[in-house]
Amino acid sequence: MNTALLPLAWTPPCAMQRVIIHWSEGRNLSNDTDREHYHLLIEQAEAGQVRVIRGDHSIADNASTGDGDYAAHTRDCNTGSIGVALCGMMGCQESPFQAGPAPITLAQWRLLEQVVAELCQRYRIAVTPETVLCHGEVQRNLNIRQRGKWDPMRWPWDLSVPGSQIGSQFRIAVQGRISVAAMSKGATAPIQPPTPTRRVILPDSLVIDAPTVRVEDGETWLGLRYIADHYGWTIKTTTTNSATVAISGVDHTLELDIDGGTGYVPVRQVAELLGASVSWDGPNKTVTLAKELSQ
Ligand SMILES: [Zn+2]
Repeated sequence: MNTALLPLAWTPPCAMQRVIIHWSEGRNLSNDTDREHYHLLIEQAEAGQVRVIRGDHSIADNASTGDGDYAAHTRDCNTGSIGVALCGMMGCQESPFQAGPAPITLAQWRLLEQVVAELCQRYRIAVTPETVLCHGEVQRNLNIRQRGKWDPMRWPWDLSVPGSQIGSQFRIAVQGRISVAAMSKGATAPIQPPTPTRRVILPDSLVIDAPTVRVEDGETWLGLRYIADHYGWTIKTTTTNSATVAISGVDHTLELDIDGGTGYVPVRQVAELLGASVSWDGPNKTVTLAKELSQ
């Protein structure tokens, strides 16, 4: 099921470091100036319908800004920054707060969360206060001076939420949407770059591969629970970087690497405990463990 909001042509491959959200301080429908300054804009029609539209500049225009051809949305912070704006808040006032005649709405905000979640997935941007933030947070979080910006840090539909919490509330919502999207796509979704595949042949000729086999920095690791079950080892204790297993009543400690909730141990240590030699067949990406003839 493809529920993507953003056409692929709107998100060309390029290096982007962050997403900065804004309000346009204009009307709920964008004008030429709004479209010049933001990559994506979230409009609201009279009838309350919301939609996302593209601005004049491609996101790729902000990969580098030396040529002057880019969406200028955040002072001194446009390189690598995607700018997304909620259309509205013309004539707003910070204190005492006045939303003005074109307030942003909850429907726009929900669509903004979804749009930013998609951007983070496509550009592999982690959701942190430095990488997904309100324009009004840029000065504090990135230490880049802005001139009294506070957008979009008030919710006209819920003024009980202080401006200082809007950014963190937004990040929680975006992260939630990314997690749900990842789960609905199932375990095979390429959220992370695929790890290189590698086969391991155990001394009893059993062939195992991913996810029981994992490759990190060229080293081969095996799923501890799988190996322990297969050879009747008892896992006694584990820490963040070591595991102690009992084999025929004798304790042995192995290096442990936990990834995605699964503990992995180095193939060489497993081989040692099995009294097996290790050989590597590069072209076939195969590690073979074999019992020494003398044993
Ligand atoms: Zn702004």
